[in-house]
Amino acid sequence: MTTQITGIPVSPGLATAPALIIRNAPPTFDRTPIAEGEAAAETDRLKAALGASAEQLTTIMERVRAKVGEEQAAIFEGHLMILEDEELAEALIEKIREQRYNAPAAVEAVSEEHASALEQLDDEYLRARAVDMRDLARRVILNCLGVTPTSLSTIDSDVVLVADDLSPSQTAVLDPARVKAIITEKGNRTSHTAIMAASMEIPAVVGAPAALSSIKEGDMVAVNAEDNVILVNPTAEELGGFAERIRAFEQERLELAALRDLPAETTDGVHIKLAANVGSPDDARPAVEKGAEGVGLYRVEFLFMERAESPNEEEQYQAFKSVVEAMNGQPVVIRTLDVGGDKDLPYLALPDEENPFLGCRGIRLCFERPREFRAQLRALLRAGLHGDVRIMAPMISSLDEVRGLRQALKEAAESLEADGVKYAKDMPLGIMVETPAAALLAQHFIKEVDFFSIGTNDLTQYTLAVDRMNTRIADLYEPLSPAVLQAMKLTVDAARNAGKGICVCGQMAGDVRSALLLIGMGVKELSMSAVHIPRIKKAVREHRLTELRDLAERVLSLPTAAEVKAELAKQT
Ligand code: PEP
Ligand code: MG
Repeated sequence: MTTQITGIPVSPGLATAPALIIRNAPPTFDRTPIAEGEAAAETDRLKAALGASAEQLTTIMERVRAKVGEEQAAIFEGHLMILEDEELAEALIEKIREQRYNAPAAVEAVSEEHASALEQLDDEYLRARAVDMRDLARRVILNCLGVTPTSLSTIDSDVVLVADDLSPSQTAVLDPARVKAIITEKGNRTSHTAIMAASMEIPAVVGAPAALSSIKEGDMVAVNAEDNVILVNPTAEELGGFAERIRAFEQERLELAALRDLPAETTDGVHIKLAANVGSPDDARPAVEKGAEGVGLYRVEFLFMERAESPNEEEQYQAFKSVVEAMNGQPVVIRTLDVGGDKDLPYLALPDEENPFLGCRGIRLCFERPREFRAQLRALLRAGLHGDVRIMAPMISSLDEVRGLRQALKEAAESLEADGVKYAKDMPLGIMVETPAAALLAQHFIKEVDFFSIGTNDLTQYTLAVDRMNTRIADLYEPLSPAVLQAMKLTVDAARNAGKGICVCGQMAGDVRSALLLIGMGVKELSMSAVHIPRIKKAVREHRLTELRDLAERVLSLPTAAEVKAELAKQT
């Protein structure tokens, strides 16, 4: 019998394929001490698991080297070196022989001892190796239990990935040719995994609480991320209907593609600039293909993931340069590192925080690490020589931060000057308006920056005090809440009154009804996952600006999100 579940569709598209279940939870096993006569068998079990782990890691390393890059492959080479460490092997065998641990318990105990010791060290790099140790231990333990750990980079048949949650770095290594769709129990519209899935054009439904209880490994799953329908083990008739829907979706895609070279212009002739949000140089070309007029947000933190350490100035410069060049002279807004919140970099070994989204995130972390920040700003200034590059900082909540940013940029320029390295002078500097503080003080902030870009994902989270990752309160997360709209209105008016640029680059920009409202509010520039550009362009071309202005005026006087939505629904 078919089971139907739903979630939050975050990346459009439809697909059918067998399920691959990913469980990130720690493996469970029996820790009862072994009998004396069992030591030899447990030692054999351990050796077999170590051998299997080494084989798996070698395969992964080779694949990653061929498909992703040498540096990412080095992570797995490091894991292999730990596996070959003789002292470690002796410690494991001693646990089994002398202390009567079974094989997985021995791995757990020894790896934990090492990981905790690493965590105590002063050296930041070595401290971060604790994560590698635990990651590796998990693999060996699973192998002891006869379970083959799945590496998401090596999936080589068509699957629908089903998981409790996927980290952005797990998502980063997925092969869109194989992973036909993603379903996760956790996450919501603005989690970074959702954003990455959209940029990779993998249909995705997140926040589907029944996913793991309803779907077993190998079940046929039909995912419709357009209409929020997931069918588990559909009947032949349902599959037929699905195939029909997939054809219709492909047809729509072709129709939208035909708009590619037409301008995003309202029927009364006003041009709306539609730019792309990108996460890597690989996203730039598809963005151009979808008709993006530049990059409105380059989330550079994805360049920092799936690596053993931060990319240096030169690596960042090369990545920025390749995005700038791919955009053929169109503007590229590069955001300084926005780590923290749901984006962790294990090698930074950041201390745990009670409230990571309210913690040392974004610009705050950059100020805490001036050396790394300097390297990034230097890379940005150098990339400016290759096109129209603009710098933007996230999480700004005070003018002191804006001034600190200007000062850091000035010092980075001076250091390049001193080194005799060429860089772009007078590069535009803007900020994300994504905290209520920035929105409330927009009229002051705009005097000291060249442009604003509204980050509606965080502005919603912080204005409504609703954690964007918390599924339990996902229905309270409402970008169309009048409170969020008023914060945006303050920001748009401040920028327009000052004659400066105003863009919206949060997820709202890629939603047809919200985009029309934003245009009515006076926004002439929207930046979104490239996959949404064609639909937004179609909507822009079907409306008059005057009509959208009236719509915005009506909407901004409404007191509830329900009324806002009802008013917007009348328009489309
Ligand atoms: C936002 O907050 O709206 C935004 C665009 O930034 P991010 O989603 O990367 O936090
Ligand atoms: Mg943000």
